[in-house]
Amino acid sequence: MAAAVALVDAGLTPTVFEAGPVLGGRARRIDIDGRQIDNGQHLLIGAYTELLALMCQVGVDPAAAFLRTPLDLRVLPDFHLRCARLPAPLHLAAGLLGVRGLSWPERWALIRAVRIAQTAKWQLAADLPVGAWLAAQRQPTSLVESFWRPLTVAALNTPLETASTQVLFNVLRDSLGGARPASDLLFPILDFSALFPDAAATYIQARGGQVQLGATVRGVTKTEAGWLVNDAQFDGVVCALPPHRLDMALAGVAAAEPALTLLAAWDFQPIVTIYLQYADHVALPQPMVGLADGLSQWVFDRGHTHATPGLIAVVLSARGAHSSLNQNELTAAVVKELQQHFSWGTPSWTRVISEKRATFACTPNLSRPANATSDPSLWLAGDYTASDYPATLEGAVRSGLAAARGIIAAI
Ligand SMILES: Cc1cc2nc3c(=O)[nH]c(=O)nc-3n(C[C@H](O)[C@H](O)[C@H](O)COP(=O)(O)OP(=O)(O)OC[C@H]3O[C@@H](n4cnc5c(N)ncnc54)[C@H](O)[C@@H]3O)c2cc1C
Repeated sequence: MAAAVALVDAGLTPTVFEAGPVLGGRARRIDIDGRQIDNGQHLLIGAYTELLALMCQVGVDPAAAFLRTPLDLRVLPDFHLRCARLPAPLHLAAGLLGVRGLSWPERWALIRAVRIAQTAKWQLAADLPVGAWLAAQRQPTSLVESFWRPLTVAALNTPLETASTQVLFNVLRDSLGGARPASDLLFPILDFSALFPDAAATYIQARGGQVQLGATVRGVTKTEAGWLVNDAQFDGVVCALPPHRLDMALAGVAAAEPALTLLAAWDFQPIVTIYLQYADHVALPQPMVGLADGLSQWVFDRGHTHATPGLIAVVLSARGAHSSLNQNELTAAVVKELQQHFSWGTPSWTRVISEKRATFACTPNLSRPANATSDPSLWLAGDYTASDYPATLEGAVRSGLAAARGIIAAI
């Protein structure tokens, strides 16, 4: 959708083929049991500048779309890091000095690690797993469990033992290491289709483009005149399928072969979101709280954001101990953990949404396909293309805009 917005802005008339019944892909609205929820709880940060700019462009006011707070990471039982409302870098310095739940040696270890990364301008000589880098920085186990592990798995959707330190640094550079608003947390108060893609579709259609829902691309073929997508003729193609589906459209297209070969070797990581409806009075003191001592990783209170009191979303990112449990076992385990921490009782409604290939596994030195292919009228877009970022909404938007710039120049 980002690419299509840029294409209509350049005076072209793109057609978007979307296989699903709603727009948004891995960040979309779903209707279940009469409730409107998202396929997975998402969190954005202030550093998502391109997505925020694009939302404004298509008429969605970020001030009305998000609950925006300064960075506030509370991880139970007792870790709490809060950035002060001060200009950078004082916001971070004050946050690190004031962090709760750490002994002084642990606090200094955290400050030392952040300083080392900052001094190196968030650039490693050679990438390595986050766990190995933390061990080299002599980060105490309790600090790793209460801060680094939840942060890494939330940012990269990859276990700390195998996650790329360089990509984590890139995220920290643009958030904690940036201006103070860059590290703000943005909790969506709209559903994910309304947040950007629905408005983008209206914008695209008003400018001569088309958006087709339920339109699965079954084949893309190069012809003398350009490209055939299913049976329709086009001058160029931006392929924005998810990485594990790329071959569905591009198998047999010579220019896509190098990308398909790279992607065939990739590992993907799941994300499970468990929605639980408790009594109306159930609430967290803030929209999101982490749990360091069980299966549940981040607990979101959608009463803060979606006017749905008592509706809680628990996020379990990446593969882990929870992966061997079936949905009933997982729900029971999560309900038990929430009961232990908050005494919320039994939920009246639950729903497990499991995205098996939520993101690519963001491992060190991962070779990612470029936007460009060897054919100047075929471009790739999506969160997986080569960039500084892990699989994120901002990465996907930047990739879409880059692909659009490339194909506009080419055709
Ligand atoms: C549960 C979950 C939680 C997440 N949490 C966060 C978060 O908190 N913050 C964050 O920044 N990111 C998060 N992400 C990642 C983020 O959602 C993705 O990085 C982003 O949505 C990827 O966008 P994309 O356009 O690259 O791919 P997709 O969103 O996958 O879009 C690809 C589209 O192609 C369509 N398609 C597939 N095959 C065909 C076909 N043959 N023909 C036509 N259309 C087809 C799909 O239906 C889909 O709409 C999360 C992801 C998940 C799954």
